[in-house]
Amino acid sequence: MNPHFNVASADGTGPQAQPLGVERWVDAAGQPMAHFDLVSMGDGYKLLFCYQHACPGCHTHGFPNLSRLVDALRGENIRFAVVQTVFEDWEENNYEAMLEDQRRYAVPVPFGHDPGNGAGTPGSVLMQRYGNRGTPWFILIDPEGTVLHSHFRIDVDKTIALIRRAGAAPAVAAAPEKMPNWGDVVRWANHGNPPPPRRVQKTEAEWRQLLTPDQYYVTREKGTEPAHSSAMCSLFEPGRYECVCCGTELFDSGAKYDSRSGWPSFTQPITEGVVAYNMDNSYGMRRIETVCQVCDAHLGHVFPDGPEPSGLRFCINALSLKKSK
Ligand SMILES: [Zn+2]
Repeated sequence: MNPHFNVASADGTGPQAQPLGVERWVDAAGQPMAHFDLVSMGDGYKLLFCYQHACPGCHTHGFPNLSRLVDALRGENIRFAVVQTVFEDWEENNYEAMLEDQRRYAVPVPFGHDPGNGAGTPGSVLMQRYGNRGTPWFILIDPEGTVLHSHFRIDVDKTIALIRRAGAAPAVAAAPEKMPNWGDVVRWANHGNPPPPRRVQKTEAEWRQLLTPDQYYVTREKGTEPAHSSAMCSLFEPGRYECVCCGTELFDSGAKYDSRSGWPSFTQPITEGVVAYNMDNSYGMRRIETVCQVCDAHLGHVFPDGPEPSGLRFCINALSLKKSK
């Protein structure tokens, strides 16, 4: 059925995917996760990229191929994970090096670190279970849990074609509206935002005149209001939410949801370009700040734990917003 893939036979039968057995994970944003395995990757296709920090081929063609796949298959029925499967160079292939690689390549997927029982042992548990013969190593699993491909190399174009074909087969409703996902947000935060629709600039004194002290503190000094301090959290009336500083419409009530976080939460902005994304390394955390791109007002942060389909949670200070009808 898939002659381009090396493991499954012509009738699509192949070995069943095993639990990964990897104990240390961080999510797409680099935050530690208590648990992650194939089940966490949903019901669709799954692609595992196994690598080691000190493996040159992992950097020359492993990560570039992975990035192409992740970019091309955004929105398709496939999830990705990266695992550092350590079997040599224990000193260099450590947990911190894995975190560094996740930041360097900005691939918005979970990363795992799998040194097995350490130096002097066979190492990576995943490698032993799947029979990997080194790194880089690509493993493709179909929705039934059959391993279709397990090899040093992967044919990127053929993999993209397979996943797109599989997604197109069932009756698909109207194409979903284009909405940003975590990959877009990370890319914009790292490499620059789409252009703003217009710009509004005022002096500090002018903003102080226009805003209450609380609004000024949050929007112009990057403050955070206390959790559960605003009735706006539980407000779901139809309407739009404007920037309190410049009046630009930022969010629609249709994208508002109850995150129970204590701050108004949305899954997407009204249009691309009204919200800008900046890397924020304050308070020892790595987060992505959201600002009004028209006037630079601090709004809050965005996280990759929101509901489908965007998967985003825009966690916004109520003091940054003004509801219009
Ligand atoms: Zn604004």
